[in-house]
Amino acid sequence: MDKSGSSNSYKMDCPELKRLWDLYMGSLAAFHESQKPFLDGIRPHDSHYSRMRVAKERATSELIGARKNYWDHVQSHGCRQSVKAAGNQRQTLDRLRSELESASGAFQRALEKFHPLIQIMEDVGPTADRKSVV
Ligand SMILES: [Zn+2]
Repeated sequence: MDKSGSSNSYKMDCPELKRLWDLYMGSLAAFHESQKPFLDGIRPHDSHYSRMRVAKERATSELIGARKNYWDHVQSHGCRQSVKAAGNQRQTLDRLRSELESASGAFQRALEKFHPLIQIMEDVGPTADRKSVV
């Protein structure tokens, strides 16, 4: 699918890695966006509540999926190994680490901040109001 066979020229700016990173960060922004109605105090009897909750579920699962895709790519494409092989080891590993810490930190902060809301979502269950929304 790509030219990953023989080349050793992967870098951290691997286009696919960057694409997945952008998707990851985009899904994180969308995740935050989807929490807003709930932080603003939307109530179960409000007319948009069901739709907002479905949107939030979707944003949450997209965030988890984007995070997984990013990590899967790091592992399967071997971006890390080729970075090591490139020789500029300390600099690239520092950069890799800070990128990963940034991603992991943002994700953890999001989860901690919104954990109560996610908990509510899980308690209610993902299918509870899907039929009334779509
Ligand atoms: Zn890659």
